[in-house]
Amino acid sequence: MNVVDSEKIVSLLGQIGYHPVEMPDDASLILLNTCAVRDKAVRKAYGHLGRFKPLKDGDPNLIIGIGGCIAQQEGRELLEKFPYLDLVFGTHNIHRLPEMVRRVEDERVRCEETRFLDDKERLQQFPVRTGDSAVTRFVTVMQGCDNYCSYCVVPYVRGREISRPSGEILSEIRDLARIGVREITLIGQNVNSYGIKAEHELDFTGLLEKINALDGIERIRFTTSHPKDLSDSLIECFAKLEKLCWHLHLPVQSGSNSVLRAMNRGYTREHYLTLVRKLKQACPKIRLSSDVIVGFPGETDEDFEQTMSLLEEVRFAEIYSFIFSPRRGTTAAEMMDQTSAETKQSRFDRMLELQRNISENTWEQDVGTVCDVLIEGTSKQGQGQLFGRTTWNRIVNFTGPEKLIGQSVPVKIVRSYRNSQLGEVCRTS
Ligand code: SAM
Ligand code: SF4
Repeated sequence: MNVVDSEKIVSLLGQIGYHPVEMPDDASLILLNTCAVRDKAVRKAYGHLGRFKPLKDGDPNLIIGIGGCIAQQEGRELLEKFPYLDLVFGTHNIHRLPEMVRRVEDERVRCEETRFLDDKERLQQFPVRTGDSAVTRFVTVMQGCDNYCSYCVVPYVRGREISRPSGEILSEIRDLARIGVREITLIGQNVNSYGIKAEHELDFTGLLEKINALDGIERIRFTTSHPKDLSDSLIECFAKLEKLCWHLHLPVQSGSNSVLRAMNRGYTREHYLTLVRKLKQACPKIRLSSDVIVGFPGETDEDFEQTMSLLEEVRFAEIYSFIFSPRRGTTAAEMMDQTSAETKQSRFDRMLELQRNISENTWEQDVGTVCDVLIEGTSKQGQGQLFGRTTWNRIVNFTGPEKLIGQSVPVKIVRSYRNSQLGEVCRTS
């Protein structure tokens, strides 16, 4: 979500004469787009802000701003805390940036805009990409969240859930296909509930079917899916829509029913495992990834073991594991029985170890097989290498001519590393 917002920021500022530079020292305007989901991200953002102060001391005309979730949560207080900060813009106010920057430039005032928009205004402000051509792109289909998981700050800083009209989404994707985009990832906090609140709108399955029929688009992905809203018809899409990649990110958060209940997740361990079974039936080669929180308040050893056993049973290709971080304003932050830092860390380490083995084992299975790789560009590895992704969203590096960028080619996987694979192109016609 933040990547799309940052793209929109770059595009809007381009309209008033700003262009991106590599280093903060070379900038005349620095904007920090922030996340408040975990304390670590918040501390990192404040760390960055602190490092910009000497730049402002050296150049009083430098404009410094902060946006995203921290800006939404803290608002005007940030201007008080950081006297060298010029502007604060909330998650619904990105479109106001050109005007805000102009005000700071012309009047040397400090400004803050963090008002939540009403639904009608929001529908006019959905982030639409406008950047350069690329092979893969994110497309926002919804914003906000109505789920209020007890640990999560998102509904408070991003607002209520709202779906973008399907006609607009399809038209954006058609435009993207015309400029060479081959893979799109539909994004939203809970894409499975797309369209449910809007009258006369497609549901998410209907939207996927329409996108699957668009010329030029070869691959479709989506994220994030909430298990409570993963319908049978959506699961069926993995069997019948040939462009839908064989990968699903389906955050489980915990394997214990009592923790899931306290998290207000709206499903049980058993329901989650049934979904996994149905997905594997619909698409035997599907690989799943997930998010897991360790050390939720009241999580006992037994609860934690339930999560470990779920990981062993499902064998996710990848998980993103997080130590519970109390967020101000959420109900979990007020819960008694917070788990000690020591326990959280030792559970977290055990989980990483288990998952590392499962992930390595999963990716190792690809060695010696041929996978279709959609080539996205030149690899960070250098040495004339290109990179692309398999249907499972795994990065593959291999040697090949740049003219292949944008094409899907069969690649034999020859080695598997922790975060990527090494391949050899089989055929390049
Ligand atoms: N909407 C998505 C969902 O329902 O799974 C994910 C949104 S959240 C930005 C990404 C992940 O951050 C969550 O899946 C959760 O695992 C993690 N997370 C959110 N709040 C957290 C907290 N207070 N402490 C630790 N992890 C948290
Ligand atoms: Fe946060 Fe839950 Fe909404 Fe995901 S579904 S954004 S975890 S409240």
